[in-house]
Amino acid sequence: MRKQFAVIGLGRFGSSVCKELDKLGHEVLAIDKDVEKVNQITNFSTHAAIANGTDETALQSLGIRNFDYVIVAIGDNIQSSVLCTLLLKEMGVERVWVKAQNDYHHKVLEKIGADKIVHPEQDMGTRIAHHLSSEKIIDY
Ligand code: ATP
Repeated sequence: MRKQFAVIGLGRFGSSVCKELDKLGHEVLAIDKDVEKVNQITNFSTHAAIANGTDETALQSLGIRNFDYVIVAIGDNIQSSVLCTLLLKEMGVERVWVKAQNDYHHKVLEKIGADKIVHPEQDMGTRIAHHLSSEKIIDY
């Protein structure tokens, strides 16, 4: 089933989420405050927009509350990530998935109602450790 996604923040994590969802045939709105990041994603998303994720009016004019999922992939700036998540939940977005930077960030996101909190670096580290552990080594 084709779903509607919006991805806010197009760093390495956000842009790869965006490109993969697009490849899977979903509708994806890619958002970043940096024009360069937006230009780089136009061929790999349904729509792309330059906007600040902490600007309520900008989010409203993009019709953000109508999306099935909004992914907040603003990493380094915890304050912006938190404010963006808060605005999205206040606006009634049902499913807000957020990339957390650390455990404190995670706790705050939990309190303000983020629906799913992800730690891509840790999760990938765990997966790779499992791969390494199950890798067969042929000893001569
Ligand atoms: P990654 O590891 O995925 O590359 P990161 O953790 O280093 O990312 P940042 O570089 O802080 O995270 O942010 C990712 C993207 O989010 C950047 O492209 C940045 O321009 C964008 N961004 C940061 N703040 C905002 C904001 N308030 N509104 C929209 N986009 C933002």
